[in-house]
Amino acid sequence: MTERLYYHDSFLYDFEAEVSEFQANPKPALFLDRTAFYPTSGGQVFDTGVISTENENLKVTEVADAADGRVIHYLEAPPKELRAGAKIHGQIDATRRRDHMQQHSGQHVLSAAFVRLFDSHTVSFHMGDDYCSIDLDTPTLTKTQIEEAERLANEIILENRPVEIRFVTQEVAGKLGLRKIPVADRDELRIIDIHDFDLSACGGTHVNQTGQIGGILLRKVEKVRQGWRVEFVAGQRAVATARRDFTTLTDAAGLFSAHIYDVPQQTRKSLDEIRSLRKQREQSQEELAEAQATALLVETPETNGRKLVIRTVADRDMNFLKLLAQKLTRLAPNTAALLAATSPQPSLVFAQSAGQPFDMGALMKETLTKVGGRGGGSKDMAQGGLPNPEVISAALDYASGSLRR
Ligand SMILES: [Zn+2]
Repeated sequence: MTERLYYHDSFLYDFEAEVSEFQANPKPALFLDRTAFYPTSGGQVFDTGVISTENENLKVTEVADAADGRVIHYLEAPPKELRAGAKIHGQIDATRRRDHMQQHSGQHVLSAAFVRLFDSHTVSFHMGDDYCSIDLDTPTLTKTQIEEAERLANEIILENRPVEIRFVTQEVAGKLGLRKIPVADRDELRIIDIHDFDLSACGGTHVNQTGQIGGILLRKVEKVRQGWRVEFVAGQRAVATARRDFTTLTDAAGLFSAHIYDVPQQTRKSLDEIRSLRKQREQSQEELAEAQATALLVETPETNGRKLVIRTVADRDMNFLKLLAQKLTRLAPNTAALLAATSPQPSLVFAQSAGQPFDMGALMKETLTKVGGRGGGSKDMAQGGLPNPEVISAALDYASGSLRR
């Protein structure tokens, strides 16, 4: 067993120990007789840091609980020289540890606040790189409840209550009324006691006073299978997150030359404008297509009782081409239209009035086989995309030649 120094002092960032074993495979790893490094467990993630021997510094990249109850320290690279019994100096990444203490102690306070206020119990805790979350066993969770739990948790933090670590037997623990009792076969339990607010059994690293948590900020909530998931950040993370939110909002507000609090209103206004402009544009396109179709029909002579309109336009999308084809073939009952657009995408639309004898879908396929591209359609209306605008005239020549034959 490794003596776990963090059980008694979460603020111990430096320690002396002896190497009990070195393993080269599958990853270089060290076992020590005692350690202050925290291994991933109970939702809290591992510490990192450096283990220094007489002549080298070994970077600790991950720490875990080994199956035999020891703590295993994974190293970035194997040591050049190391024997069992060697003296080492351990140095934990204090910034990372402090962050974990703030998140984890923040979680205890928050979980207790949800129990006190709404009898909602925490069924799991997750600590990520960006944010943490707890899952609550509640069927509903309102915005007001979120705000109330956040307020109570921050009041407890502000009151700077002592946080004590106690070791008690299972029997004593049963009488204390713990918020959380782990399923464990050992007789002794480690209790985290937030003065007059929360008692729970936990092996994690915690602050000494709730004030060291700094503050807690609740973020996204979402329905999960067994209840509700509440995301939160505590301490420096809460400040960093609020800073990032502010920067994002300021960027958005800058686009509107508005105050950040007016961003939702401005966004709604812009979306309404976009919708209204889109409608206006559709109407204008419709009117433009109708006017162009009328003019084209006037200038196109009738041959063999039929008008064949051939036209290439620029800066019109496929929708406009189809609209124009529709107008042409409906305004005059004996029309065939071969239309092309050079940009934004080189494209073709072939159409005919209802009852005309051609098959535009087949003609489109034949044409595209000649010049390249993809498309197809029905007997009266077909569309196709071309590889480049240079093939448009060849495509129209081929198609019109087929219709005139
Ligand atoms: Zn805990």
